[in-house]
Amino acid sequence: MDATDGINNTNTADDADDTDAERERQWIEKTLERLSHSPFRAKFVLSSKDRAYARAKGEVVIASHARDMLRSRVGQAQPEHDGRQTPWKGHPVFTAQHATATCCRGCIAKWHHIPEGRELSDDEINRLADLIMAWITRDLTAHPSLRPGTQTNGSTDSQPNKRTNDQRNPQPGNQPTLF
Ligand SMILES: [Zn+2]
Repeated sequence: MDATDGINNTNTADDADDTDAERERQWIEKTLERLSHSPFRAKFVLSSKDRAYARAKGEVVIASHARDMLRSRVGQAQPEHDGRQTPWKGHPVFTAQHATATCCRGCIAKWHHIPEGRELSDDEINRLADLIMAWITRDLTAHPSLRPGTQTNGSTDSQPNKRTNDQRNPQPGNQPTLF
């Protein structure tokens, strides 16, 4: 009986961390749903050039671009040329910013309830960057790329019959990569 109690206690420890992640996941889902009801926001899609760029750079790099661009262009208390600082295209994050209403402080205030006139906190920048990344991921999911030859676990021609190991350990690498 004592041993069972011990196991149950270790399981509850993980739930605290999961709750924050889960709360943000729900916020992102709800926000994307709200944005989809705006004809202006919903019309944005990535260009094929942006998609190729995002896939070539990878998720980690694009996410760091998103944080850097938010910090430098909309993060200050009084951003320069606020309302006109985000180009319509030229980088997947630019397009995603218009689609997610993270393009200027007016849109951020209206859609995400973060007041104008003060710096964005690191938490706010991270949260808005996660929203941008969710939007980009959704666009890439809707427009899959097979990218032949770029997978790390690509088949080796020399051993075409060696399948037993693969079946025991199914690799996520066999699925099409978004980024
Ligand atoms: Zn705006």
